[in-house]
Amino acid sequence: MTTPTKILLPEDELPTRWYNVLHDLPTPPPPVLHPGTGQPVGPDDLAPLFPMDLILQEVSQDQYVDIPGEVLDVYRLWRPSPLYRAHRLEKALDTPARIYYKYEGVSPAGSHKPNTAVPQAYYNAKAGIRKLTTETGAGQWGTALAFACAQYGLECEVWQVRASYDQKPYRRAMMKVFGATVHASPSELTEAGRKILAENPGSTGSLGIAISEAVEMAVQDETVHYALGSVLNHVLMHQTVIGEEALMQLAMVGETPDLIVGCTGGGSNFGGLAFPFLREKWAGRQSPVVRAVEPEACPSLTQGTYAYDFGDTAGMTPLMKMHTLGHDFVPDPIHSGGLRYHGMSPLISHLYETGEIEAIAKPQSECFAAGVLFARTEGIVPAPEPTHALAAAIDEAQRCKESGEEKVILTALCGHGHLDLAAYDAYLSGAITDRAWDDAELQASVARALERLPAVH
Ligand SMILES: *Cc1c(COP(=O)(O)O)cnc(C)c1O
Repeated sequence: MTTPTKILLPEDELPTRWYNVLHDLPTPPPPVLHPGTGQPVGPDDLAPLFPMDLILQEVSQDQYVDIPGEVLDVYRLWRPSPLYRAHRLEKALDTPARIYYKYEGVSPAGSHKPNTAVPQAYYNAKAGIRKLTTETGAGQWGTALAFACAQYGLECEVWQVRASYDQKPYRRAMMKVFGATVHASPSELTEAGRKILAENPGSTGSLGIAISEAVEMAVQDETVHYALGSVLNHVLMHQTVIGEEALMQLAMVGETPDLIVGCTGGGSNFGGLAFPFLREKWAGRQSPVVRAVEPEACPSLTQGTYAYDFGDTAGMTPLMKMHTLGHDFVPDPIHSGGLRYHGMSPLISHLYETGEIEAIAKPQSECFAAGVLFARTEGIVPAPEPTHALAAAIDEAQRCKESGEEKVILTALCGHGHLDLAAYDAYLSGAITDRAWDDAELQASVARALERLPAVH
């Protein structure tokens, strides 16, 4: 029997709790440190930025956290999301592998980001907060938070990385439709932005700089909080609805994955898909290989250093032990705006260090080629970010063609590329170039950034 093309869960099977991978980790990850004292941060240190419900989720050791009814009500606008069997892509590759993709492009923002934007806005509204500030790269996170704030009556102010602000006017328009105010970053509105512009008036910005600006605005006003779209434990936990649904959907067709591939910017869509499967693996019920795919131009896992570093450029956040390219790293303005962060989620970094997951890097031209093949076969134009995962899935499917193995490959198609068509246009007209890093050069620049940090142990 061949599997159906779309594997759909009924609305009443929407997961009602998030999975907290911290509960099941074979070894605990290193603590987040206060840069002033070098001691682990406590809830009070984070209170100027986040509501207590989210702070407690950040450090929770509970295996599951219930999803509030008010959040489930909003999730139902697009969840459960479909799982697809990529019959047409498989045929084009002439592979015996079976490829499945979990499609998050059906959300209001067109990506997985609303899975965490909605609960973050909800808990802030519940705590009486008036406004959320944030950064955005490609504009996906800003769009998701703008939508979520509109759901709960919050104001939303977004600092968008200059390179994306200029490349993606329609993302900016979409954020405004949802009611947000949008600034290009670096901006003249913050001390962090003014300092960067004084040194480099033509700065194309980075997520690290935009985070500094959004955090600076939030700490000055107790009615304003900050929201982060990736990296933190609670964000990855909110995204586990993806993997919980995918587990049920694969079970409906009697499959278990041999390989799970996802793209990693800060690690949230990848963690959201993979964590529930890692739980099954640790319990001895499944044995997937789990592989992260990052851009060669911003290779935090494959070429970065595992060390304590700031989450932002100005050094306003706590210190996190993570794979980092240095907090002042400014990547080339590659088109995958969502994969341009200098660091990697501490949870994903820890799983990589402990050998629970693998990582590879891909040049963007190969990724766009995979995206175009996927569009022509499956009919969905993927966002540039998940084309990295698609390129890796295609690699594996081609290896299966040679070996004859019928592997089951599961990938996160975490967003559509309807507002990224300028990037596809550039690719199709031959204007895309690749940028790999010389290892020694990159290590030296990371070492310089880390030398300027406060001493920690
Ligand atoms: C934000 C984003 C990413 C990167 O963020 P992760 O936290 O690594 O998931 C990848 N793809 C899309 C479509 C995004 O919007």
